[in-house]
Amino acid sequence: MNPDIRAFLAVFDTEIVFGQVLIRRREGGFELRHESDRAADSGALTTLRGTELRTWSQTAAGGAFRPLKSAPDLRAGWRAFAADGAALELLLHYLYPGAVADWFAAQSPHPPVTSYREFTARQTGMFRIATTLPDAVAGAAMRACCHADFCLKRRLWSVEGLEPEGAGQKSLIPCLEPCALMLEFARKAARLEQPIAPPFEPPATEAAESGFDAPNNPRRMRFVLEKQALAVKPATE
Ligand code: SF4
Repeated sequence: MNPDIRAFLAVFDTEIVFGQVLIRRREGGFELRHESDRAADSGALTTLRGTELRTWSQTAAGGAFRPLKSAPDLRAGWRAFAADGAALELLLHYLYPGAVADWFAAQSPHPPVTSYREFTARQTGMFRIATTLPDAVAGAAMRACCHADFCLKRRLWSVEGLEPEGAGQKSLIPCLEPCALMLEFARKAARLEQPIAPPFEPPATEAAESGFDAPNNPRRMRFVLEKQALAVKPATE
């Protein structure tokens, strides 16, 4: 068994919630189900096996593709079983890729966190523009894009002037560096900061397919609110 899942198993006796998944120790292994199905009769839930769980997690209610697995819209109505720790880690990987390994890495005294500045400094091509966001605006973009309405990962990385998200916020799943969606959002935010409004342009990558160009995109609307809040705050922030 990998050290990461061994450490994870050591932090709970009977059950734990990871993201939106309730994990319970059961005779012969572990049961997983959506946390909102905590009290549901087992017979009322669809039993999913192996990669069926991954397929289930790929779409939200209504059938829309879920580009971000840590979005708080995992469908309920299922349960799955893992016979041991290795099987549990695999099922969790289907739901939240890499999350147990990231959780383990975050337990170390010095978690491998990459700040906004370090991350964007590595970017090339059209993503270089993300380096031009002033700290305050980058912070507004982070508060908008990583808001709990859109992502359950707890952001451990940051930018000058904005604290990382604290223990107890959002979920146990850490975020160690900006994701593709955040990078795309920062790129769009930087374009919006330019004095002349940019023409429509498609998302830079398929993975970052986002709809950020639509004025009613929820993240974009939250970004507008965050920027308005900046305008009324004292200059020290
Ligand atoms: S960068 Fe933000 S939106 Fe992306 S996974 Fe991390 S916390 Fe979530």
